[in-house]
Amino acid sequence: MRDTLQKLKETAWRQIAEAGDTKELDQIRVQYLGKKGELTGLLRSMGSLSPEERPVVGKMVNELRQELESLLKERHASLEAMELERRLKAEKIDITLPGRRPARGRRHPLTQVLDEIKGFFIGMGFEVVEGPEVELDYYNFEALNIPPDHPARDMQDTFFITEDILLRSQTSPVQIRVMEKQRPPVRIIAPGKVYRVDLDATHSPMFHQVEGLLVDDSTTFGDLKGILAAFLEAMFGKGRRVRFRPSFFPFTEPSAEVDVECIMCNGDGCRLCSNTGWLEILGSGMVDPRVLEKVGYDPKQYQGFAFGVGVERIAMLKYGIDDIRLFFENDIRFLRQF
Ligand SMILES: [Zn+2]
Repeated sequence: MRDTLQKLKETAWRQIAEAGDTKELDQIRVQYLGKKGELTGLLRSMGSLSPEERPVVGKMVNELRQELESLLKERHASLEAMELERRLKAEKIDITLPGRRPARGRRHPLTQVLDEIKGFFIGMGFEVVEGPEVELDYYNFEALNIPPDHPARDMQDTFFITEDILLRSQTSPVQIRVMEKQRPPVRIIAPGKVYRVDLDATHSPMFHQVEGLLVDDSTTFGDLKGILAAFLEAMFGKGRRVRFRPSFFPFTEPSAEVDVECIMCNGDGCRLCSNTGWLEILGSGMVDPRVLEKVGYDPKQYQGFAFGVGVERIAMLKYGIDDIRLFFENDIRFLRQF
């Protein structure tokens, strides 16, 4: 019995010393001290011993049990410390790594172009004015010399809310609202959202316009040409040719479409300019005397010019974007490019 105990002790000692981690150590504990463990088995087999031997062997078994328990405890503590050390090494935070940069937002391409447009006209002495997007028929059409039978009033083009309330289809009503309240000189631009029943690659039911108006007692078509040529140079670069084509708008007379030399082919003709060498950029003209009369200005004393430019149109040309819908889809991969 003594020999068995001695052998068991030696094997247990070795196993405990060689245990690689706490999990292995737990298995060793079960192997010796568990309910079906080797030491427990020895205690059970004591029934076969003589009454004199029993207390002696019992004492030895208990001593060995205590010895093994304290040995296991010690080894457990050192293994735990080693494991902690290992984990600390493996999971250590490397403070020399550069920090993660917070994602930086940027201005929407339309906001950037709008800011550029505003910047130019503010520099020319214009004031930025805003007006309502839900507008009266009177301001959107009638005061702008667009009679009730004009095609622009067609239900297909304009979002009507009631018979006389609509979503403005242009920013021009702001001119009327300003002129009603203010005597000349007037020098304003009116940027904002406008709405039309239209949707394809180059038209959106909501888009942005900047309307410009200058009224004074000595305004000429030459002033209009000078300011718009300078504006287009600021937008598309110096030296680009600009041309004024006779056109018609109900609220200006005479009226002109303004084209700029194609920014893609420099006038040679390409797909972007439909081989004309020119790009249509904006509409303009001298304010129709009937519009001035409506707001109580004397057309014999005052003249003015007006123009309207689409912000999306400028942005699409500047950045080579071929689908207007990209502006409003909020795809971060698209927006990040500007
Ligand atoms: Zn071209």
